[in-house]
Amino acid sequence: MVYKITLLPGDGIGPEITEVAKKVIEATGINIDWDIKMAGEESIKKYGTPIPDETIKSIEENKICLKGPITTPIGTGFRSINVFLRQYFNLYVCLRPFKIYKGARTKFENVDIVIIRENMEDLYAGIEFEKGKEETLELIKFIEGKTGKKLNKNTGISIKPISVENSEKILRFGFEYARKNNRKKVTVVHKANIMKYSDGLFLEVAKNIAKEYPDIEFEDKIVDNMAMQLVQKPEIYDVIVCPNLYGDILSDLCAGIIGGLGLSAGANIGEDVAIFEPTHGSAPKYKGQKKVNPSAMILAGILMLDYLGEIEARDKIEKALSEVIREGKYVTYDFKEEGEKCVGTIEMGEAIIEKIGGKW
Ligand code: NAD
Repeated sequence: MVYKITLLPGDGIGPEITEVAKKVIEATGINIDWDIKMAGEESIKKYGTPIPDETIKSIEENKICLKGPITTPIGTGFRSINVFLRQYFNLYVCLRPFKIYKGARTKFENVDIVIIRENMEDLYAGIEFEKGKEETLELIKFIEGKTGKKLNKNTGISIKPISVENSEKILRFGFEYARKNNRKKVTVVHKANIMKYSDGLFLEVAKNIAKEYPDIEFEDKIVDNMAMQLVQKPEIYDVIVCPNLYGDILSDLCAGIIGGLGLSAGANIGEDVAIFEPTHGSAPKYKGQKKVNPSAMILAGILMLDYLGEIEARDKIEKALSEVIREGKYVTYDFKEEGEKCVGTIEMGEAIIEKIGGKW
């Protein structure tokens, strides 16, 4: 079988790590017809937009996209191309696994957490009112009239919508994921004690859905407590389901626990389209130096193969990657202490490909 997959190398360090991930995936023998498209800085130069129509059309047609990081350009009307793609294709799930690979630079051990983050709503919905604008002043008047609460005229407002429909979808996805992947516990994160009608709603939906999954242990945690617990005893957490903002913040916390952003990837999944990407950005200061860690981009490829049901190829890559990290001989600077010997992006990729039994 030949898969047709959209590949967005992105910009900054994107092209160098995407090239490595592509070659690592191909080394498994899996047959992919890559539809390489532009997005980001190069695309602005060529098309005058960071996300041209033909890129969107390619994702629409192929339904699967492996994506490098993309810089968020200032002044194009896009808050973020990454957020735009999630919203455009209704990719309501963001799934991010955090596992410690022996050899990663971390003080922790035995961590194997999956964060499932709602990707469409909450403070990321993009419903914002700028300080001093006419509509903002009208909204302030409306709020004062309805609640009796006084607001300063110089107030900016961001709206936090959380719906029953989207909460049900993400929570059901979380419990189904736990069941399918032999996970034991789902922890739902919120701040329902303060935000009763948004986070409170999320928690209420969670409690109802949990009843449909008596085989999975269910607990809920207030987000501030969760942040502390994750640092103190991350090994007791399994699947964590969060509204958008908490999911974003706790993802970076978990990336820190397992050894940094270079080891963290995510899948953005909707009803029929899915985009796989590293969690980190385009790290412009390292662009072209071929020194950054390609692991997160390779892990994004692993998530994609898992989604496609290509389990053998997925396992081959994960075994090779974890061996290279454990041996610590052909790894990038972020696995090492200052001044210790390390290799570049390509050399680490070559070592992984050799373990798979392929050639660069
Ligand atoms: P960043 O993640 O690009 O980099 C922060 C730092 O993390 C780097 O300076 C580097 O020290 C380290 N780092 C990141 N990736 C690494 C890797 N593969 N190997 C080793 N070290 C690595 O964050 P930033 O500098 O805040 O953002 C740069 C640009 O990327 C911004 O325009 C931002 O909007 C964008 N961004 C894009 C995405 C995405 O495409 N999904 C995600 C986050 C940020």
